[in-house]
Amino acid sequence: MKEICDGEKERILKILALLEKHYPNATTALRYENPFQLMVATILSAQCTDKRVNQVTERLFKKYKGPEDFATAEPRGLEEEIKECGLFRNKSKNIIEASRIILEKYGGRVPDEFEELIKLPGVGRKTANVILANAFGKPAFAVDTHVFRVARRLGISDGKDPLKVEEDLTSKVPKEYWIKAHHWLINHGRRICTARKPNCENCFLKDFCRFYESRS
Ligand code: SF4
Repeated sequence: MKEICDGEKERILKILALLEKHYPNATTALRYENPFQLMVATILSAQCTDKRVNQVTERLFKKYKGPEDFATAEPRGLEEEIKECGLFRNKSKNIIEASRIILEKYGGRVPDEFEELIKLPGVGRKTANVILANAFGKPAFAVDTHVFRVARRLGISDGKDPLKVEEDLTSKVPKEYWIKAHHWLINHGRRICTARKPNCENCFLKDFCRFYESRS
């Protein structure tokens, strides 16, 4: 953990304890059966809701069973299948290319190292961390739009970009919380600390929140 004062450490631990209490079963909303399916679903989730992605992958994974099917997919055909997720041309291209690399370089298995994952087309920092944490159980803190916003409002980070927020979270939040805290912050961002209208008055974190403090 980064060197932070005891008061700040205590504040963050209280926030984590409350998040755990309120979201005991928080986990990824994306449906997948293996690391490869999670990779495809996460690529599809860019600028798309998890609900929509699940609708699309329910169909898609029946037709395309694994990297072999995706690597040999006809780009137009795949575009049609994933159209509802948006950005479908790029996503289709990336999924096909990533599948080829996974087959040729990794024997059909999604790599479980961050440095290897981010070399795959369509897999950025966030997606790599999602895969590491959820498919392989490796400590990683994926920063999506909700995590970014809630971490900043709570005052755990003042980072202006996701990388800085990730650095602050991973240095201030104990490692054993990383995987779960990612899901807790997403849940909180969706249910209470929403982008447009955070429901501060009814938020169980308000006594520990810098944003709330600054408004009071
Ligand atoms: S008090 Fe408001 S800003 Fe702070 S976490 Fe809760 S909803 Fe978000």
